[in-house]
Amino acid sequence: MTALLENDIVLIVGIVVLAWIGFTWKALTFSGAIGTFLVGIFIAMGFQGYGLLLIGLFFVTSSYWSKYNRKKKENMEDMHEKGSRRDMVQVLANGGVPALIGMMAYFFPAEYWTYGFVVSIAVANSDTWASEIGTLSRKQPFSILRLEKVEPGTSGAISSLGTLAAIAGASLIAIASYFLWDGITTMAIFWIIIFGVVGCFIDTILGATVQSAYRCKECGKLVEKKIHCLQPTILVKGVSFVNNDVVNISSILLASILMMFLSFFVR
Ligand SMILES: [Zn+2]
Repeated sequence: MTALLENDIVLIVGIVVLAWIGFTWKALTFSGAIGTFLVGIFIAMGFQGYGLLLIGLFFVTSSYWSKYNRKKKENMEDMHEKGSRRDMVQVLANGGVPALIGMMAYFFPAEYWTYGFVVSIAVANSDTWASEIGTLSRKQPFSILRLEKVEPGTSGAISSLGTLAAIAGASLIAIASYFLWDGITTMAIFWIIIFGVVGCFIDTILGATVQSAYRCKECGKLVEKKIHCLQPTILVKGVSFVNNDVVNISSILLASILMMFLSFFVR
């Protein structure tokens, strides 16, 4: 098993197969599959098959939740800028930071990169589980900044189901990393869960503040799209270039840096 996880040819074939499965299962667009391949190569450079197994766990479980109970969410798809099939930009929004850390770990080997890498995946997993599962909540979600109940699917909204999903998503990655790396201690599991959820929380705060939201002039709905009902929409909140992908990458980066800094003190 160890030999397989450290064999370059096996890893490259594994990455191609993963990207291909994502494309044929309609979890990825063609550009999303190319993005997945690139992210996979950089992660394999720094963390061999162990890193790929961890991001693979995120990839498979998140795709599963995206597809899960698709019918229930179909009417909400309209609110989001893009559908459930992830393109290159969305893949990089979640996989860009892990890929960057993988490259850094390859060129400048040090143990703290592993902590940063694991937290980057923990945040991505926590956040994806929270949004995919949270939107299935039957209760009306709560905006953490406006302190009032809001329309399901609104950026910056949380629900108890979504919060539980965030903790579960970070925990799965933390526990898996314990079995993948000898350097990850039981104490580290605890900190990875904390920073995974903190990253998800940062994402929610940014989503509720700087992330852009638009209102459709035609139907009056609050949307993430610049065009709705064939009409240009009006910016009603946030900064125009800050979309969900920018918010994702910022929260992952911030939580990973915090964890790498903390790893000098906590072992
Ligand atoms: Zn409209």
